[in-house]
Amino acid sequence: MSKKIQSALISVYYKDGLEPLVRALHAQGVKLYSTGGTQSFIEDLGIPVTAVEDLTGYPSIFGGRVKTLHPAVFGGILYRRDHEGDVAQAEEFKIPALDMVIVDLYPFEETVASGADAEDIIEKIDIGGISLIRAAAKNFKDTLIVSSRTQYAQTLTLLTEKDGATDLEDRRRYAAEAFGVSSHYDTAINQWFVSGAASDSSGVRQFESLPAQSLRYGENPHQQATFFGDLDAIFDKLHGKELSYNNLVDVDACVSLIDEFTESGPTFAIIKHTNACGIATAATAQEAYLNALSCDPVSAFGGVVITNTTVDVATAEELNKLFMEILIAPAYEEEAIKILQSKKNRILLRRKPLTLPDEMFKTILNGVLVQDKDLKTESAAQMTTVTTQAPTEAELKSLEFALKVCKHTKSNTIVLARENQLLASGTGQTSRVDALRQAIDKAAAFGFDLNGAVMASDAFFPFADCVEIAKEAGVTAVVQPGGSIRDKESIDYCNANGVAMVTTGIRHFKH
Ligand code: 5GP
Repeated sequence: MSKKIQSALISVYYKDGLEPLVRALHAQGVKLYSTGGTQSFIEDLGIPVTAVEDLTGYPSIFGGRVKTLHPAVFGGILYRRDHEGDVAQAEEFKIPALDMVIVDLYPFEETVASGADAEDIIEKIDIGGISLIRAAAKNFKDTLIVSSRTQYAQTLTLLTEKDGATDLEDRRRYAAEAFGVSSHYDTAINQWFVSGAASDSSGVRQFESLPAQSLRYGENPHQQATFFGDLDAIFDKLHGKELSYNNLVDVDACVSLIDEFTESGPTFAIIKHTNACGIATAATAQEAYLNALSCDPVSAFGGVVITNTTVDVATAEELNKLFMEILIAPAYEEEAIKILQSKKNRILLRRKPLTLPDEMFKTILNGVLVQDKDLKTESAAQMTTVTTQAPTEAELKSLEFALKVCKHTKSNTIVLARENQLLASGTGQTSRVDALRQAIDKAAAFGFDLNGAVMASDAFFPFADCVEIAKEAGVTAVVQPGGSIRDKESIDYCNANGVAMVTTGIRHFKH
């Protein structure tokens, strides 16, 4: 249905390009209403315009947060012109019809892109404008909505061609575009909030203020890379070259893993490509290191080593025999530092007691994923025995140890351990069975007898095959989250074969 436009509300952020449209509307006898800045712009053109304040009886208040949000404005847009009751109410409350609404929203995305601070960005979240757009688009039967400055020119053409009138199909098309504008606008706001940038104290923004350190290259020499952060706040560098991108990734993995062992005795871990290829807790630092190394001395070559204890001379002498990229410890004996400095390229870091952020970020597609770090660790007390046979005290301790390591190993993962020592793990495999087979093969390759070993799995067993294979290899106790619809098959097998199983209810995927 063709409709002549008789009145228009104009409230636009960018006034550029608006003039011809305003002049055309005026020439066609359209009554114009407008908000503060837009009103001045129209008046400067010498064209009469009614202030929206005259409709609402309120000035623009709260620094412009509330300008058009009023029944006189929204009623004029939304009332149904073919509805007797609506028309009567419009007359009763003296609400004039608004046949056209022209809005150009506050530039939210541009403000974010400009690097403005959170307070300025929040003020650029348009409230009245977006409401005007949605209201006029909803009532497209009666109202034409021009929802962006990109439509000024085409609208001028339309109104010129149709002599100030529009058809229902025109209005429907503009309404569809309007909801596109509003949904894009709200999506941008949503992304900004979700990224954590809305809060100055946490999220991405807390890293923005950090110093940028360009790295020699990224994961590979053809990739450029920068580290945003303050390594000096975490480590004193006692010796060695600059940390590389891959070093930093491994150091991060090391730190997360060793922090599981703050309450344990002397512990050493050796990391390769973010996974532990050796870790052990023992009575002395030297013993812990040697036990960790024995797990997989082949992989340990070129690894990153971390400990929760002071590196003494005896341990330093052992460590000195290994080609390693980095050693991290909370403390070193003076003499130990001298020994370890003998290799030019080895990096020695002394860790400071700094609490690290508990959120993590990852870019994907055209956005960023943010999640809490996996800071849950289940002690023996939080493990429920689900088999007739309960694990022994010693097995429970081993299960606790194995689960801590499992949590920090790439999924799918299976960890085999015994008495505070990692025996072997299957890491980052595409099936749990493959992970288990890899672990068993590795244990055999490095001379470990798996009799009496325990097994930890990052996620539940979908079938009984893992417990069957583990039992055959000598495993006597198992920890897993549980929760598979086939849990019973694994439990039945354990019961029939004297294997103890405990569940935690907590999954520890690490992708
Ligand atoms: P003006 O420059 O005319 O004073 O303001 C125009 C801008 O105000 C437009 O971008 C429009 O979307 C926005 N706007 C209109 N009404 C309101 C309101 O009630 N609250 C807020 N926050 N913005 C509004």
